[in-house]
Amino acid sequence: MISEEEARRKILDGIQPLPARKLPISQALDCFAAEDYMAVLPLPAFDNSAMDGYAVLASSCARGVRLRVTGEQPAGRDKELRVLPDEAIRIFTGAPIPSGADAVVMQEDVKRDGDEIVINATVESGEFIRPRGCDLAQGQKILARGEQIRATTVALLASQGFPDMLVGAGVNAAILSTGDELVKPGDKLEPGQIYESNSALLDALLQRCGVNVKLVEHCRDERQSILQAINRAARNHILIISGGVSVGEHDLVKDALHEGGAQIDIWRVAIKPGKPFLFGHTGECLVFGLPGNPVSAFVTFLQFVRPAILKMRGATSLDLPRVPAKLTVDLRNDGDRAHYFRGRLEHGKFTPVGRQESHALFGLSQSNGLVRLAAGQSLKTGEIADVQIWA
Ligand code: AMP
Ligand code: MG
Repeated sequence: MISEEEARRKILDGIQPLPARKLPISQALDCFAAEDYMAVLPLPAFDNSAMDGYAVLASSCARGVRLRVTGEQPAGRDKELRVLPDEAIRIFTGAPIPSGADAVVMQEDVKRDGDEIVINATVESGEFIRPRGCDLAQGQKILARGEQIRATTVALLASQGFPDMLVGAGVNAAILSTGDELVKPGDKLEPGQIYESNSALLDALLQRCGVNVKLVEHCRDERQSILQAINRAARNHILIISGGVSVGEHDLVKDALHEGGAQIDIWRVAIKPGKPFLFGHTGECLVFGLPGNPVSAFVTFLQFVRPAILKMRGATSLDLPRVPAKLTVDLRNDGDRAHYFRGRLEHGKFTPVGRQESHALFGLSQSNGLVRLAAGQSLKTGEIADVQIWA
């Protein structure tokens, strides 16, 4: 049995990001930038009006002063107008500021009288002007390699005129569930059988990680069937096998992998739940063997599979988001493995939910966070713990 940290290091050290690809920015959402992006334009690109109103010289203005309106500048092409003292130019939000003007008076603060306006407010230099580059300077970094593309990132790239961008390639995955007792949802259950739920769990988790799930298969606990299914799945970047990695006579995944010439790099990790976790590879395909108990499959997916996928996709931040929270109960780990407690994070407080056993799927479904206690660690009510959260 190796430590969780060692297992994670072994898995991640062997992974290189997949080659990058160019995508239209509209398809890049949730991908990871494959290079740094710098601003090619300042934002705003030119001094412009923040209001519908009149471009003026602040020094010409005082309450009750009359100014002659000499032109109009809408948003769009710059008409290259000029404002002289005692004059004003009608202007609209986003329109370029005419030369000479150093302020905009909003239209609510003037009275229009034919081709004149009467100022009805104090006006200061710079008022209601958005200066060129005040938001973003040309050459400033706007996106770092490895950062995830969000809706707002896409908007920023569009504002820079970029139609497409380089992002990390997509990851293809296969899921293989094993177990004689398992029945597909929708089929009839015989006594002693249970519905197969890990494929649904893993498929959903993989989708959350932006992975293309290419194949989902179920196998009986038969070495040859498992081996054949592994061979069908091995053309993908990763294969996730659920169940059959423990020590019982019906746990045949390891044998099947060996027989097919796969290399097993890790088997058994000091993590609870999830001790029988297995990692290896067959050809180019990474193989993750997750224990069949749903909570074990879930925890080992988040701690080992998720970071591996993110690294393949070109991400630089591989950990789940963490939020500090106050514990509402004492937590202790008397065991010799790191223990992940499932619970709810609400209003800055963490409360374990349901039975903390590896089969307890209902409690897991009510949880939104994990608290890790190292072997021998205990935490008291009111102490602060880092809660790992997932979507
Ligand atoms: P195993 O890891 O194959 O020894 O399975 C451990 C436990 O998880 C057993 O109680 C299995 O019935 C259950 N289990 C295994 N695979 C699945 C699955 N795909 N869906 C739901 N439960 C499973
Ligand atoms: Mg089994």
